[in-house]
Amino acid sequence: MKTDEEILQIAKEASERAYCPYSKFPVGACALYESGNYYFGCNVENSSYGLGLCAERNAISTAIAQGEISKLIKIAVYSPKSDLCFPCGACRQWIQEFAQGYNTEIVLQNNGMVQKYYINDILPYSFKLL
Ligand SMILES: [Zn+2]
Repeated sequence: MKTDEEILQIAKEASERAYCPYSKFPVGACALYESGNYYFGCNVENSSYGLGLCAERNAISTAIAQGEISKLIKIAVYSPKSDLCFPCGACRQWIQEFAQGYNTEIVLQNNGMVQKYYINDILPYSFKLL
């Protein structure tokens, strides 16, 4: 199982692949699952701004496309432009969806150190159908 430092490093490397000519705010994410598998993504922007995709949802989409069905237990998010690069509201809802009842850890970098939060704390009272 990858450590927090390892998934944060993978998120950092993923941020170098970001397509962000408009915001110039690269972000990388690495999603770690209960299976031990992990998937990374970067943000992908578009000249039609609203079509941009965040790194977190890119990583989670990749996991789904690869057939991942276990719980999302951790997701690291990194931007070279900002410490504590929290997931946006849409990504928090996506993380909660694939947590499958688990209190997913959000792994961020703050001043070179790992800092962790829990999805239930940063998205309380989330929408759930299941
Ligand atoms: Zn987002």
